[in-house]
Amino acid sequence: MTKTIFEKIIDRELPSNIVYEDDKCIAIEDIAPKAPIHILIIPKKSIPKLSEAKKADEVLLGHLMMVVKKVAEQLGVQDAFNIVINNGEKAGQTVFHLHIHLLAGKNFTDLFPG
Ligand code: AMP
Repeated sequence: MTKTIFEKIIDRELPSNIVYEDDKCIAIEDIAPKAPIHILIIPKKSIPKLSEAKKADEVLLGHLMMVVKKVAEQLGVQDAFNIVINNGEKAGQTVFHLHIHLLAGKNFTDLFPG
């Protein structure tokens, strides 16, 4: 199986700016940021997309959310950030290894006008 970009980053075969790492996931700066702060939280386990996650992944998915919180605090943006998960090519997913985008420093409220 060919490794995805994120597997290569996790295995240190490709460089990246790592802002957080533990035994279950890694958080890196996005190479093409869409906001002043744009971090990707990536599980070390390769789940191609959220819709392919299994019941057994439930604890891992919860862990990723807690890492979002931790990284947001670490970067001082805990009061205002957005998270995005693109699921599937038509939804804009380009890397088929589940990841959460953490975006901050830009107002995305227009996306969901009240
Ligand atoms: P998605 O389109 O949701 O699959 O998100 C993939 C993200 O990975 C995009 O925002 C890309 O800019 C980002 N990306 C691609 N290659 C790299 C890389 N080598 N290092 C960091 N981020 C990357």
